[in-house]
Amino acid sequence: MSELSSNVDKFRLLGGWVEQPDDLQPELGDDINADVIIVGAGFAGLSTALELTALGASVVVLEQAFAGFGASGRNAGYLAGSMGVEFELFHKRLGVEQASKVVSFYDEGVAYVERRLGELAIDCDYLPSGVIRAVIHPSQEKRLRHSMALGQELGSVTRFVDRDEMRARGIPPAFLFGCIQHGGTLDPGKYVMGLRRAALQAGVRLFEQTRLLSYSDGPTITCRTRKGSANAPVMVLATNAYTPQLGLLRDKVTPLRVSAIETQPLSAAQLQSLGWQGREGIVTPHWTMESHRLTARNTLLITTKQLGYAYGSQTPNEPDRAAYAALRQALDDRFPSLRDVAIDKCWSGYISLAYDALPVVGETGPHSNIYYTAGCSGHGVGTQSLIGFLLAERIGGIEQPLLTALRHKTPSTLPEPLQWCAVKAALAGVNLLDNALNRRARAS
Ligand SMILES: Cc1cc2nc3c(=O)[nH]c(=O)nc-3n(C[C@H](O)[C@H](O)[C@H](O)COP(=O)(O)OP(=O)(O)OC[C@H]3O[C@@H](n4cnc5c(N)ncnc54)[C@H](O)[C@@H]3O)c2cc1C
Repeated sequence: MSELSSNVDKFRLLGGWVEQPDDLQPELGDDINADVIIVGAGFAGLSTALELTALGASVVVLEQAFAGFGASGRNAGYLAGSMGVEFELFHKRLGVEQASKVVSFYDEGVAYVERRLGELAIDCDYLPSGVIRAVIHPSQEKRLRHSMALGQELGSVTRFVDRDEMRARGIPPAFLFGCIQHGGTLDPGKYVMGLRRAALQAGVRLFEQTRLLSYSDGPTITCRTRKGSANAPVMVLATNAYTPQLGLLRDKVTPLRVSAIETQPLSAAQLQSLGWQGREGIVTPHWTMESHRLTARNTLLITTKQLGYAYGSQTPNEPDRAAYAALRQALDDRFPSLRDVAIDKCWSGYISLAYDALPVVGETGPHSNIYYTAGCSGHGVGTQSLIGFLLAERIGGIEQPLLTALRHKTPSTLPEPLQWCAVKAALAGVNLLDNALNRRARAS
């Protein structure tokens, strides 16, 4: 039995970055009014709330747990643009012109967060080290070069990093060569809690422990919660992977479980033997990528590798032991000198994915006054933050070109049980391919 399957106590319900805040905001207990109600307090909800408040709107945010409870408080903290297979999917779906604009939306997401960290004085250990997409076996070179070239055609600023440069940077030798783009890594818990603090200071009325149970559409939308209700002419559903459970986007996005493991802090000697002085965020071009990074607390964080899907687009907050074991295997494979390092925490969270991997942003309802944002797959640190600006502008009457660029017809998902069968089969297929590659890398 692996270390992780026997060590369930390493599992953290809230992920590895956040705790329930000491100043937990009260549950909504009245009937209140606002200009805009936002449901969900992750990057998207908080960013939208801040931008709308700056435009002079009165904003209420309803959050079922506390700000940062969802993926925004559980992710790996890579602030990066689009990459890899996304370029191919965007290109195939939208053609060069619109796909280029989507790529610039992803890149602008990086610049937006970098700017906001300064404006809002959020210290979240952001390290603008760049993010390297690095192969672990020479057979990945063709795909890496192909997607890099397509990315460049679509306007992505990325360049090849050869073996010599990788070694000069001190990147661990399991990562042979790759391509680098701008961005870096941050502590997503500190980032989302910084947004929360800024929103409270700006006068956003945040109700935590307040789950939206149902809403009525019309010129005024009424949101019902356990003990109260909120009314506004506009509502934003910033509930991402949880949105299908509210009855919206059920046929548009698929919630996928993404998992993470984090080691105990590495000793000074272990860090030194590792090299990796620039601490670049590393992802791999596997079909389901591996991501490897050092944190500011000198731990090693490994994420993704094996995704999960729960029947009926549910999002159970429970451990995924198979994923943690696969992540541990990745740690052992890529960092053989750290085989004895213990895992300190493991957790899982949910992203949402459309079949075309594109963002799912728009408005709905008979009065087109219900806005939603989902998709953005595993790139929400930048994109779901920037969406806050784009949605606030749209609600304020200005459609920014980057929002227009995202508008397209999202393909419909399959009904259950076909969706479950299709997603499980697809995930099993990519795991087989990735495992075969890993065996070849181990043998070489
Ligand atoms: C393990 C992991 C690693 C990741 N790594 C990265 C990465 O390195 N870089 C990157 O860019 N992205 C990464 N992502 C994806 C990124 O975290 C998400 O895209 C992003 O956080 C989504 O933000 P959001 O605000 O849209 O959604 P969320 O953060 O999920 O927020 C939605 C909120 O809505 C609330 N909610 C849901 N239903 C209700 C309801 N009925 N009533 C009230 N509130 C409700 C939830 O509690 C939650 O707080 C990762 C995700 C995971 C899980």
